[in-house]
Amino acid sequence: MKNTQDDFLRRFIFDKADVRGEYVSLRATWETIQERRNYPPHVRSAIGEMTAAAALISATLKFEGTLELQFKGTGAIQLMVVEVRNRKTLRATAKWSKDAGTNDQTTIFESGILAVTIKPDSDANTFQGIVETDNKSIAQALESYMEKSEQIATRFWLESNNQRVVGIFLQKLPGGATSEEDWTRITALAETVTQRELLSLECTDLLFRLFNEETVRVFDKEKLSFECTCSDQKISSMLLSMGREEVWSILKERSSVDVTCEFCGKEYLFSEQGITKLFASSVESNTN
Ligand SMILES: [Zn+2]
Repeated sequence: MKNTQDDFLRRFIFDKADVRGEYVSLRATWETIQERRNYPPHVRSAIGEMTAAAALISATLKFEGTLELQFKGTGAIQLMVVEVRNRKTLRATAKWSKDAGTNDQTTIFESGILAVTIKPDSDANTFQGIVETDNKSIAQALESYMEKSEQIATRFWLESNNQRVVGIFLQKLPGGATSEEDWTRITALAETVTQRELLSLECTDLLFRLFNEETVRVFDKEKLSFECTCSDQKISSMLLSMGREEVWSILKERSSVDVTCEFCGKEYLFSEQGITKLFASSVESNTN
């Protein structure tokens, strides 16, 4: 049994400065994500950073819903998707080309698009914003996205190795007379963090190491864990959207339609009988 105790988001604020922060650390959840795919090291570190970033951004949502970060690239990494639901559960996956193992991180991101999608559970509209990665790191791409779309100065520090994903984010609060000064001073302190410190220190030790000259108030941990939202119903509607012709051409080649969830590896098997029933019931519901 994996220990999910250590997977959490943790909000912190500066009592005497107009800056707020969020911290994330994932171990068991990260282990589960890595079990699904044999990620080459560079892909693994990219999807690790994106997982940390998605968790941190989801913590800023003030309503129930899903936050999705999706990267589509023309380089070695073709696709990365991280989805966080209600700040509590997440899932992630990636697709890459064969040369991903040899490329360095910068060429992996040389051209691509990073989309931030927020889907509220209520009837409120889905929001989507897009930023070009343009040789930037995930942190830099998201910082310029937040600056443009939300007009809020934001900084990310994201790290991962094969055991752990860690991230910090700082956001400048609007208002206060000293907010610009606060922001400069506190981001300069955060800037001194090393990769080793992020990956080896625990939350409060890390915050003390960085901000011991400030008054930091740390809130309770909010647990995060891996959970996939795939279901029979979702796979069925995906098959329906592919259309009768395409699904039947798969059936002709094999005796069944076999769909594997990209996120959790669960297999969904549809027999010819099942497919016939599925399309028949969709005709029924369309004519109703
Ligand atoms: Zn799944």
